[in-house]
Amino acid sequence: MGDEDRLVKQVSLKSEDFSKWYLEIIRKTELADYAPMKGMMVIRPYGYAVWENIQRLFDRRLKETGHQNAYFPLFIPESFLQKEMAHVEGFAPEVAWVTQGGQDKLEERLAVRPTSEAIIGSMYAKWIKSYRDLPVLINQWVNIVRWEKVTRPFLRTTEFLWQEGHTAHATLEEAQRETLDILALYREFMETELAVPVVVGRKTEWDKFAGALETFALEALMTDGKALQMGTSHNLGQNFSKVFNIRFEDKDQSLRFVWQTSWGISTRLIGAVVMVHGDDSGLRFPPAVAPLQAVIVPISIGNWKETVLPTARRAEEALQRAGVRVRLDAREEFTPGWKFSDWEMRGVPLRLEIGPRDVQEQKAVAVRRDIRRKVALTLDSLGEAVPALLADIQAGLREQARDFLLKNTHITDDYEEFKRLLDTRRGFLRSHWCGARDCETRVKEETMANIRVIPLDMEEIPPGSCLICRKKSDTLVYFARAY
Ligand SMILES: [Zn+2]
Repeated sequence: MGDEDRLVKQVSLKSEDFSKWYLEIIRKTELADYAPMKGMMVIRPYGYAVWENIQRLFDRRLKETGHQNAYFPLFIPESFLQKEMAHVEGFAPEVAWVTQGGQDKLEERLAVRPTSEAIIGSMYAKWIKSYRDLPVLINQWVNIVRWEKVTRPFLRTTEFLWQEGHTAHATLEEAQRETLDILALYREFMETELAVPVVVGRKTEWDKFAGALETFALEALMTDGKALQMGTSHNLGQNFSKVFNIRFEDKDQSLRFVWQTSWGISTRLIGAVVMVHGDDSGLRFPPAVAPLQAVIVPISIGNWKETVLPTARRAEEALQRAGVRVRLDAREEFTPGWKFSDWEMRGVPLRLEIGPRDVQEQKAVAVRRDIRRKVALTLDSLGEAVPALLADIQAGLREQARDFLLKNTHITDDYEEFKRLLDTRRGFLRSHWCGARDCETRVKEETMANIRVIPLDMEEIPPGSCLICRKKSDTLVYFARAY
């Protein structure tokens, strides 16, 4: 066990120092590294593979729901950003500006896109003329720059990758339906593919996207008890169509402004997967987004290269044919034990061990990363047995995360208990709230928790009194400390 121990000990324990563990495990497993510029990171191949899986799985859902991909410029003229006042005020503190091209000072500064409502709005004004042009359902997968003061890999970096959807509709109802359909699509995607359960709801009026009518968000609970915003979907109303003059001739020949939405998820989701599923031995990837779903470790004893290796190769080929992302780790410079803990740390969902006796018996020992259970599989069944095990692991991780979310969601309208719970147990606190900003501000100042969402499914909510002012309330909200 000597060398395995050493490997794991190079990283802090998640259960002891969550924040240190997070930063260390990301670099140790080669998901990402710090870039030379402050607040920026390099997504390494192992981390980028997770993003590619997220892209592929979510892009498929977008296409199935009628959305198309396009690409809009990285630079946005300052005058465009300034057209929507709330929008420019909201983003001004974190915009990076280009003021010079080559030797020439620009006549007008160009913003490096912090989000693309403005540039896309200007193009929609040219493209949309008639009700026949609607709806417009366009998405782009791009990078974004926001000059953040406090950064953390994947969770908040100056530059990050995301998808941003921008749609235009004939009516408010259609725009609202799109906003909520996307919210539901995000939720299904996060719970199915990332195995991360979320609470969904509306943001408060003062916490909504700069320029939106309404913002909806998805919030997940990290294992340190802090919430993480996983994605947002905005109903932009006519705020942008009015300033960019995006009008269409309706069936009755009247000219109307379109109704718009925008929505996004980003590389932050990789950070969520790390935080939600990781444990003291390292990462635990849900198979759906894992860079590698299975690793085959031949037990290197005796003349293993003649006996074990050919069998391991055949197992690798069988799994590849079954569509499993698999690697055969035939490196000679490491012992099997070292490889076990290395792949465990990297979060590969399934490890297959094949030794000389397994070759004789025509089987492999499969070890699940999620619950560490071992199961013997016959070699000729790998093509069916491994995908079935991966599906079990995916479901198991989702179940664990759901249990954690339920166990760490507390309900109280008693502010003293609220504070005690927040200090001792953390997590989500569901409390009645009167709707006043002052009441939220007091909670924020005194506990560092704020309202994450006002949940959408309100039908079963018993009336109560506001956590702070004791006024009657029929609104339950989710409070938490957040990233
Ligand atoms: Zn109140």
